Amino acid sequence: MKEIEEIKKEFEEKIKTKSIEELKKVETHFLGRKGKVVDLFKTLKNATEENRKNIGQQINDLKSYVEETISKRLKELEEIEKNKLLANERIDITLPGIRLETGGLHILSKVMKEVEDIFLSMGFDVMTGPEIESDYYNFEALNIPEFHPARDMQDTFYLAKKILLRTQTSPIQIRTMEKYKPPIRIIAIGRCYRRDAIDSSHSPIFHQVEGLVIDKNVSFSSLKGTLLEFTKKMFGEETKIRFSPSYFPFVEPGAETAISCVICKGKGCRVCKYTGWLEMGGSGMVHPNVLKNVNIDPEEYQGFAFGWGVERIAMIKYGIPDIRMFLQNDLRFLEQFK
Ligand SMILES: [Zn+2]
Repeated sequence: MKEIEEIKKEFEEKIKTKSIEELKKVETHFLGRKGKVVDLFKTLKNATEENRKNIGQQINDLKSYVEETISKRLKELEEIEKNKLLANERIDITLPGIRLETGGLHILSKVMKEVEDIFLSMGFDVMTGPEIESDYYNFEALNIPEFHPARDMQDTFYLAKKILLRTQTSPIQIRTMEKYKPPIRIIAIGRCYRRDAIDSSHSPIFHQVEGLVIDKNVSFSSLKGTLLEFTKKMFGEETKIRFSPSYFPFVEPGAETAISCVICKGKGCRVCKYTGWLEMGGSGMVHPNVLKNVNIDPEEYQGFAFGWGVERIAMIKYGIPDIRMFLQNDLRFLEQFK
């Protein structure tokens, strides 16, 4: 009887353990094959006949008590473990989030999309063409034969004899007129290459947007109206447009186009070199020779064409001071236009 009391006392002490692992050891210690409670049964044979039943009962009670208490304690400890785990995994929704870096369109892609959208809204189609061109499409078909002085106006990257990187998007005009019958109303937009020395306004890689309209009764005033409409949509309602006589081999008459300075509104500033005007590119009525080259009768059809620089448009619209910034891939620059 005294032994039972002692074992119980020892058990009460050991059951206070806080770890499941420790509890398993306690279980073995008391209930294992050589455990203390099991050992007690072996002492029964020393007991007297009349005590045996009573003591046996008490050992059994002790055994059940130990079993139940251990299983209860196990549940408690498991619960504690679970709560600890949950506490570790708790999400603090008040913590600031981690900002994900997202990409964006390059400012030139954005401007080209803007230009396209404006001309699409005016009923134009958008055409593209190869950047590697033949001498024929880039020059000859555009009324610039070999040894024509106008070839000096455009320093060309030649890849092979008569194969070059297009110096303008105009070859797309020829390809379009070869493929489709008038009326034609397209813009061609894309990358061009010239052997220019690099400075703040010249880059050997640049982008052009060209327009071409071929129809009956197309006049210079159609060209004026179209470019003015585009200018207003791109730079604002109050923007004016100016044509001044100029020479380009593929147009006759030809005109240099300028818009009123969007920064100083024509008063004169550093950007417009105090002239109040910003030069945008060439334009004019399509030369009859060009129409003849693609089997369009110049007596029946007329057309106008223009070619503006995309970088120029972007620089003026977004106040970008240097053309080199477009290709430097400096995130501090690019992220401003995301
Ligand atoms: Zn100005």
